[in-house]
Amino acid sequence: MTSSTSWPCASLADAPLAERTTLRVGGRAQWLLEPANPDELRAALTAVRERGLALRVLGGGANVVIDDGVLPGVIVTTDRMRRIFRPGPIADEDPLDAALPNHSMVHGDVADDPRLVVWAGTSLPALCRAARDLGLSGLEKMAGVPGQLGGGVAMNAGGKGWQMWDVVERIRVVDERGEFRDIDRAEWQPEYRNARLGELIVAGAVLRFTPRPKAEVQAAVREYLKAKNAVQPVHLWSAGCVFKNPDPERSAGRTAGQLLDQASAKGRRRGGAVISDLHANFLVNTGDATARDVFGLIEELQSLVADRFGVALEPEVKLWRG
Ligand SMILES: Cc1cc2nc3c(=O)[nH]c(=O)nc-3n(C[C@H](O)[C@H](O)[C@H](O)COP(=O)(O)OP(=O)(O)OC[C@H]3O[C@@H](n4cnc5c(N)ncnc54)[C@H](O)[C@@H]3O)c2cc1C
Repeated sequence: MTSSTSWPCASLADAPLAERTTLRVGGRAQWLLEPANPDELRAALTAVRERGLALRVLGGGANVVIDDGVLPGVIVTTDRMRRIFRPGPIADEDPLDAALPNHSMVHGDVADDPRLVVWAGTSLPALCRAARDLGLSGLEKMAGVPGQLGGGVAMNAGGKGWQMWDVVERIRVVDERGEFRDIDRAEWQPEYRNARLGELIVAGAVLRFTPRPKAEVQAAVREYLKAKNAVQPVHLWSAGCVFKNPDPERSAGRTAGQLLDQASAKGRRRGGAVISDLHANFLVNTGDATARDVFGLIEELQSLVADRFGVALEPEVKLWRG
């Protein structure tokens, strides 16, 4: 393995990671790269691959559990790639070419072009607010979901009656060879909580909404936020739902949360990691949890549900082991 202090974007050696996740667990990255735009992202990914280093991409850290200790290789974070635009008024310009001077948030009527161009590091709550303030409907049900556009697209974040890819018109990715590639929604079949992107890294997306009176979008956002707050411990440190919902045929229609609840998972604890009393599929860090606690508790829950119901729960959260 080689390492170098010269990277094509901002970089940090031996970078602490816990603060970059919503669970607040994790050790340090050998290298953390922070590209500020799609071109820097592409250059950073190419540099990592040319050096033969292990590569991981981190968005908002809202769906990962990062191991204790030092993670070898490089983590590329999209944290500095926070930009939302409305496409420029010139029809034959490519809206994803965000270097265009025509891109801004102010011109034109959203009824004429109800799209937003969003870079990978844009926070999902900021995207939700921007759509609301412009009177663009499509992501109201995403209210309260943390993370970033790139992570949301890669995970195909979603919930009852919505998924991220419902509003995707096109995404721009960096492929394994370090080339930009565009993927149209029509040519892609994202799955439940998995867009099947493999090695493709999301640089940005064009999202298509439906114009709707701002007051209605706002009211819907408020309603979904209230409903989410009532059933999930959104103000505590967690990584969202730990497990995917299993195939309803195998679980007799029960969600992962229901299976865990019926198996008395609530309140189970390992060190500082505890299963929420509010939602059995939420693992919460009470302050001093380690990744070891979290991994151990996840395995314990899997055994619990397998023994009781014969159902193998698959983690939704990504487990980054060192
Ligand atoms: C309180 C709470 C509530 C939540 N509610 C929901 C919910 O209702 N529905 C839901 O689906 N999720 C929910 N989540 C989980 C989380 O918000 C989503 O999965 C979100 O999409 C994760 O985005 P992220 O940017 O944080 O991804 P990260 O956690 O940073 O990464 C997740 C995965 O995506 C990959 N990734 C990140 N960025 C990119 C990129 N640019 N290109 C390619 N791959 C990338 C990472 O490598 C990793 O494999 C919740 C989480 C919390 C803490």
